Amino acid sequence: MTTILLKPHKEESIRRFHPWVFSGAIARVILDADHRAAEPVEGELVRVMSADRQILGVGHWQIGSISVRLLAFGVGELPERFWHERIASAYTMRQRLGLLREDNTIYRLIHGEGDMLPGLVVDMYGATAVVQAHSVGMHLHRSEIAQAIVDVVPEAENVYYKSDDTLPFKAQIHGDKAGWLISPSKVSDQYWALENGIEVRIDWLRGQKTGFFIDQRENRALVERYAAGKDVLNMFCYTGGFSLYALRGGAKLVHSVDVSQKAIDLVNANVARNFPGCTNHQAVTADAFDYLSAVTNGKIVNDQIVNNFDLIILDPPAFAKHRDAVKNALRGYQRINAKAIEMIRPGGILFTFSCSQAVDKEAFRLAVFSAAAQTGRKVRILHQLHQPQDHPINIYHPEGEYLKGLVLYVE
Ligand code: SAH
Repeated sequence: MTTILLKPHKEESIRRFHPWVFSGAIARVILDADHRAAEPVEGELVRVMSADRQILGVGHWQIGSISVRLLAFGVGELPERFWHERIASAYTMRQRLGLLREDNTIYRLIHGEGDMLPGLVVDMYGATAVVQAHSVGMHLHRSEIAQAIVDVVPEAENVYYKSDDTLPFKAQIHGDKAGWLISPSKVSDQYWALENGIEVRIDWLRGQKTGFFIDQRENRALVERYAAGKDVLNMFCYTGGFSLYALRGGAKLVHSVDVSQKAIDLVNANVARNFPGCTNHQAVTADAFDYLSAVTNGKIVNDQIVNNFDLIILDPPAFAKHRDAVKNALRGYQRINAKAIEMIRPGGILFTFSCSQAVDKEAFRLAVFSAAAQTGRKVRILHQLHQPQDHPINIYHPEGEYLKGLVLYVE
């Protein structure tokens, strides 16, 4: 196995279990004798050692500023049954947290660094696990991972691999980036799973991410508590998660907006399935910024007169995918929040989110503060929201915190 020798003192963060080795920390790469290439191959397992030759751990080699993502600390090789043990530990935690119930068959089983498996995401939809590799190393281990999932998780029968959008763009990838890894039972294309008793259609073949945004489960439940009698606007609705909870919570009217027609089709299917004959829901295919401008100007959108709303949800895609995009992202958050605060009825409630990892809590709050100030309305913070318990943050890896939200009362 290739050894990565660190510069003096660069082992300190690893001794505190931070799972990344940055390229600048490396003194020397010592290839093993039978290594064919002149440097480590992306995805191969490497051993990391301190300057004084103490073994620090083993991990996946990566090309980029993060050179190694560590899988195990204090050992020079992956322990036997490594995948089984890590997956079992994650599964036990979800079980203990009460997430696996008859009325809740959707949960995240593996959340990368948060479950000590950097580069791996696994979402469960009933009997189907959807696996997403964010590193070439995880891609190379996909078969072992799939087998470990069905061995460890009693309800798991099928494993679908969906990494076409998540593997490093420039990497040389051998093998398919998407397709079934294990599928003994014929899995229907029309797959329904349950979140807190609400049925949602999961399209892992064509949908975004693994098919559903599991990370908003707890925040959707909070929307349900506030929805009774309200006119609700769910912006960036995707498959309509927040809309379904608002309807169940007794909303008077719900409008769901997304730019993707495929998403809007799924929202309509989900509403029809859970609330047959529902007449107080309207789905609109539109760009969020255009829609909000039209509404504030009292224009007609998709043949309907849109009035103001009592409860607005803003859950946009990550505006900043990289550090260098943060400034523009903050401007985007400010703009969209100002629009929402401006148009909400007095006494209204705004749920506003950011899932950009590069934008931290404070920066997001400042963007929303600027938006509020711009409108001149009185605004109070009622709740500060975050990612749920099946998207845990490894305490040694604070970078794992990405979802943040504010619930505002707008006078
Ligand atoms: N709130 C959703 C998840 C939102 S993901 C849930 O609970 O499941 C972000 C969504 O924003 C995606 O569905 C994407 O299609 C949509 N989107 C991206 N850009 C948009 C834009 N400019 N206007 C409207 N929707 C947009």
